[in-house]
Formats: sequence, structure tokens, C-alpha cells
Amino acid sequence: MAAEVIVGWNVFKEVFTEHWEGFTQFRPRYDTPYYDDLVDKMLRCGNPDQMGYIEYRCLHCGQGKHLVSMSCKSSLCLRCAKVYVDDWVAQVGKMLHEGVIYRHIVLTVPEVLRTTFYQNAQALLSPFMKCGVKCLDDFFSTVSGKALKGGYIVVIQTHGRNGQYNPHLHIIATSGGWDEQAKQWVHLGYLPYPMLHKKWQGYALEMCREALHTDEIDRLVHACYAKYPNGFVANVQKGDVPSRYQSLATYLAKYVVSPPISLRRIDRYDGQSVTYHYRSHKTERVERERVAVYTFIGRMIQHVFPKGFKRIRYYGVQATKTFEKIRPLIRQALAKVKGMVTGAIKVIAAKSYRQRYQQSTGRDPLRCPYCQQEMGVWKVWHPKYGVVYDELGAIKRGRYESPGKRTYV
Ligand SMILES: [Zn+2]
Ligand SMILES: [Zn+2]
Repeated sequence: MAAEVIVGWNVFKEVFTEHWEGFTQFRPRYDTPYYDDLVDKMLRCGNPDQMGYIEYRCLHCGQGKHLVSMSCKSSLCLRCAKVYVDDWVAQVGKMLHEGVIYRHIVLTVPEVLRTTFYQNAQALLSPFMKCGVKCLDDFFSTVSGKALKGGYIVVIQTHGRNGQYNPHLHIIATSGGWDEQAKQWVHLGYLPYPMLHKKWQGYALEMCREALHTDEIDRLVHACYAKYPNGFVANVQKGDVPSRYQSLATYLAKYVVSPPISLRRIDRYDGQSVTYHYRSHKTERVERERVAVYTFIGRMIQHVFPKGFKRIRYYGVQATKTFEKIRPLIRQALAKVKGMVTGAIKVIAAKSYRQRYQQSTGRDPLRCPYCQQEMGVWKVWHPKYGVVYDELGAIKRGRYESPGKRTYV
């Protein structure tokens, strides 16, 4: 890890070590085994004696050694954030179909609704994702005058650039949809944004009302219709995304799965407050913010999703089976589209621990520094199972480098 990242990581751990208990008394909502466990895992992350490790040794000269500690994979852990992004890119990369034009659409809710979302995360987040898809199917159908079913990859994000709660959806949508009646793919080259704003407002507000059923939400919904007569912000990235970006998934990862505050951005901790910086959307300048430790912990923990929550979901024709059936027809329809770059999306393979290490240090971790030969697995140790010798073959085949059991230095 680079020097500034190490500073950030140490500060991050110190803050949680010293203040987590106090924080849970201050905010009892987080005083549960689920959150305790996440924090506990995170604090042990990267410590080989507690998390387990793989030891590599040079089997040629016997001198080279390299220890790889298992990662915690806790969603709170900033140390694992990079691994998470790489896995995300690999996962989404596989779901992007070659030759299809996608758009990146961002659907937001106004500030007055954010507290409601925060307090009712469990009830609202899933319906929120679904209603984004319903809205776009309706939008595409209205624009084309035909009943269309698009394909969607939906990712929910709950934070803005400074770590505050700001739930919104990033949707990778096909630029049109499947007309089941005519058995035809309909491409939409032009999307009227004002109509999308209005539609999105209606879908988002009705979803809130249905999910919560309270007088308070009824009042809020009315207030929102009155206050935003032109609808909610729905931002469509201009241009056809794949033709502009060599890799859509990599481009998106930056917006979509970055942690609320990254290790690189944590500057200082004095025992009572934490200073960090971020690039502001509004001013496009680097802003510095100093907050009390409890605020800092709150900003990090409020973005942890409920247990088992799926942040990335696939809807409509994006589901592989459906897509395979209609693929030739989609291709046919899109081949006629002017300016289309066929196969512009590069599907990216998951980065292994070795590649990540090499990328950040410029050094191959598994090459013996003494004789330059490739080192082999010598020992695997797991805190629960002890030394795992019989796993050697599996490890060589990359088992510990799969998303299920990631390694991290
Ligand atoms: Zn050697
Ligand atoms: Zn971790």
C-alpha cells in the first residue's frame, strides 16, 4: 500500500478502536451483533495471525519468502475497498453484452427525502431499485409508443462525495428495449429528459408512499410534488457510453462502488475529530472537512447495507437467458445504428491478488527476489482450521484468488 494509504488505514482503525463502543451508546441503532462483527473483522483485517495467510517460498533457491494475509471482506473495511471495486468491475464486465449500446442513467431523490430513506433503509432500498427499472421501462415505452422491456444493471449508492447520506441509483440501461409483440428490438437514439424527470418523480414518490403508509410520508409526498413541479433529477450521461469509454465497467466503478471516504482522503485524527478531503461536485475543487469522531463513524457506518442486501441487480432482458434468446435480433437492429462501435466494450477479467500487487508496487510478489524464479505455495494457515496442507492444488489453481476467498497484502 502507498504511504498515504497506510496513514489513512492506521487512522481509520484507531478511530474505531477508540470510539466504536461510545458511538453505539450514542447511536443505539448500531448496537447490534451485526455491526459489532463488521467492526471486529475490519480491525483484524490484514493481520496474518488473526485472519490467516498463505506463505509462498522459493522452491529453487530456498531463500525467497512472501506472506499474503487474508482479507476481511467486511463492507465497512476501507482496506478491502479496492478488492471490492475490482470484483465489481469483473462481475459487471461479464454482464455487458458485446455490440449493445448502453446508457448510464443516474436517478436521485431530493434532500427532503434523504432522512426518510435513512430511517427506513430496510423497507425502502429494495423497492427503490425496482421502481427505477419500472420507471425506465415505462419511459422507453412512452417514447417509442410500444410496450418495451429494456435491460438493466442497477447499482444503489447511498453516499455523495463528502460521505453524507444521499441515496441514488446508477443504472446501466440498454438504449431501448424489446418489443415482445413485434419480436423486435427498438433502439432509442433520443431521450427527452424533461419527461424522464417527471416520470421518475412519480415513480419514486408513489413507491415511498406504498412502502411506508404513514401520514408523514403522505405530507412529504405532497410537498415534493409542489416543490418540484419539473420532477426529480435524472441525469443521462450524454453520448453512447461504450463508444466513449474503452471499458464501461471501469469507468463506472469510480462513481458507483467507491467507498464514502477513501483511505487516501483521510488526513488527520487528533483523538476527537477527523479531517478529510474530497472533490466537490458543485465547486469542482478540493474541499476539506473536519468532523467530530462520532460524525465520522456515522458517515462510514450509515452506508453499510442491511445484512444480505444485494447492491447490484440485473433486470429485464439483461438477464442472461432472455438475452441469449434475442441476441441476434438486437444485433441486427443495432447494426443499422449510425456511429455504433461494434464490440466497443472490453470485458475485463477479474484481477488477481498478484496483478493488484504488481500494479500498486510495480513488483511481481511471487518472483523470488534472490534467484528470480517463481515461488510456490509453502503453507496455508487459517485461524479456524489451522494449517491446510491438502488445499495446495486448489490454491495453485487460484482458489484463494476468487471473489469468495480473496487475498490481500
Ligand atoms: Zn529463489
Ligand atoms: Zn478488510
